[in-house]
Amino acid sequence: MDLATIQVPLHRIIPFSNVEGQGNRTSIFLQGCKLNCLYCHNPETIPRYTDEAKQVSLQYLYEQAMSAVPFIRGVTVSGGEPTIHHKKLVPLFQALRKQGLTCYLDSSGFFDYEVIEPLIEVTDKFLFDLKGDGEGLQTLCFDRKNQQGKVPEQVIPTIAHIKPENLARNLQNLAKLLPLGKVEEVRLVFVTTFFDAHQLIEKVAKLLEPYPDVLLKIIRVHTKGARDEQGLTPFVPTIEQTDELAAFAKQCGIQKITTIY
Ligand code: SF4
Repeated sequence: MDLATIQVPLHRIIPFSNVEGQGNRTSIFLQGCKLNCLYCHNPETIPRYTDEAKQVSLQYLYEQAMSAVPFIRGVTVSGGEPTIHHKKLVPLFQALRKQGLTCYLDSSGFFDYEVIEPLIEVTDKFLFDLKGDGEGLQTLCFDRKNQQGKVPEQVIPTIAHIKPENLARNLQNLAKLLPLGKVEEVRLVFVTTFFDAHQLIEKVAKLLEPYPDVLLKIIRVHTKGARDEQGLTPFVPTIEQTDELAAFAKQCGIQKITTIY
């Protein structure tokens, strides 16, 4: 496939990053996400098309990454949600892997596994988000009508809005990726009230049990960069609550845990 003829909407590139997976990596942020998390600190990447995003060819992205060799170990594609560009990313990842670079995806985890399987095959590792489950997820992450990202006073019950099978997708996808050795870390943005973080950790611990090398990253939500900083503030857990959740994860058997305050 000719990389020069395929275009994707680019938000930005960071040539060298050491927070997007193992080693030094070129991070590519693509435009577009189907979710609408209230805590999203890159909300400008949610719309698929904006005036600010540049349409660039895969060849351009390939050349950007190659210009950082030998100082990078690979490339991480983030967003927005990179898997919405799944077909287009396959030839890019194939070309980069031919050059010995590893290819990572930083994903919300809410993709259709069967549909993006060709991309999964050429992906070395996922940095996989846990979005929570249960009642509050519609309000926290799925309310696309709430373009302003306003934190409502009342949490809208998820159940009326999302098919249970779609809600279950996050953990089901994780369960499918783990045996393939394709998960480097799972990340949970810890927000109070919207979902039961302890219940979620219990479920995740069961999935991670055979894979002790997979890192659980608990990220205390921060309001900076969110669209409604003030509205989100009451839902920021304390450092003690964050530590307590990490201790609980350990009790549940998760071995590699890191917390980010
Ligand atoms: S999944 Fe990520 S990019 Fe999409 S809205 Fe949520 S935080 Fe933002």
